[in-house]
Amino acid sequence: MKFYTLLNISRKIKSQPLKLIGIYLLNILGKRHLSIRIDPSFNCNLFCRMCYFSSPSYRNANKGLIPESEFKDIARILFPYAFQVYVGCGAEPTTHRGFIKLVELAQHYKVPNIGIVTNGQLLSHDQIEKLVISEVDEITISCHGVYKENYEYFMKNSSYQRFIDLLDKINTIKNQHQLSKPEIRINYTVNTKNLTELTDFFKVFKDYNISTLQIRPVLNIGGSYSEAITDHQISEYNNIIDQIKSECSIYGVRLLANRTDIKYEKKNTNKKVAEAAYCYIGPNTAKKLNLEWGNINFKDFTKKIQWRRKTLKLIFKDKETSINKAAGNYDVFE
Ligand code: SF4
Repeated sequence: MKFYTLLNISRKIKSQPLKLIGIYLLNILGKRHLSIRIDPSFNCNLFCRMCYFSSPSYRNANKGLIPESEFKDIARILFPYAFQVYVGCGAEPTTHRGFIKLVELAQHYKVPNIGIVTNGQLLSHDQIEKLVISEVDEITISCHGVYKENYEYFMKNSSYQRFIDLLDKINTIKNQHQLSKPEIRINYTVNTKNLTELTDFFKVFKDYNISTLQIRPVLNIGGSYSEAITDHQISEYNNIIDQIKSECSIYGVRLLANRTDIKYEKKNTNKKVAEAAYCYIGPNTAKKLNLEWGNINFKDFTKKIQWRRKTLKLIFKDKETSINKAAGNYDVFE
């Protein structure tokens, strides 16, 4: 089942305990129930102003790499239980030379939904070709400006031309091999400065075969720039989303946009489900959990993270939910 179909079904089921019980049962039955997010390297080639990587002290304190020799064991332990594997979560996966190996391992374990999240700037022609031919489901590419000026301003150290070339190459290689995948998803973080030019998004990108456009207002995550859209820009934001929504339906693009909680103030009832289903693996995971990937199996791993105890608590504890800034509250328009 396609991930977005699953997402829509999940949104239709309003009862959080019911969803959590479903995930718990899948775990007991040994079925796929996890969305694995892996940062093979905690590093980035860019210094985006809205990101913690714009802070030199953060960069120095948080760098690290999962040795490629550990990929096979991580995959053996987790991938048979994953309905989704995304390579790249809070850092740039292409800064790890072996990141494609993780994609190949996800395919080896027949994970139904495989994606990569990248700024795309370091992807070589060979790597793009490998990703396309392996029919990864989705490549999510960050783009924080419709035009060169804002793109390169916010994504410090990037090249707008390289981004455009990347979109071109993905489409050319897909056409050469007559493949429909990978889908391209653009992740656009909105702030005071890059909001207005969003109206031109399809003027610039309509010919690049984009499947999903994700629009999210900026959050302060420790970047040097975090100017969220102001109160008087909210009506402009809503008008732009309306315009983009109708253009998306003309061009057959799926729109993920935060409409209901632009300032991230509402409690997010989906947070519990996200807590149970999402599983993050990064360079520090083994150390934090005091484990060696080569010596454990899935049962040992879930014990280490106390998955069942925590999930039962999520099912039975009161309805209180907190604001989930990371996942946001996206509306999906297809
Ligand atoms: S937003 Fe993404 S591309 Fe930009 S610095 Fe952060 S991790 Fe790197």
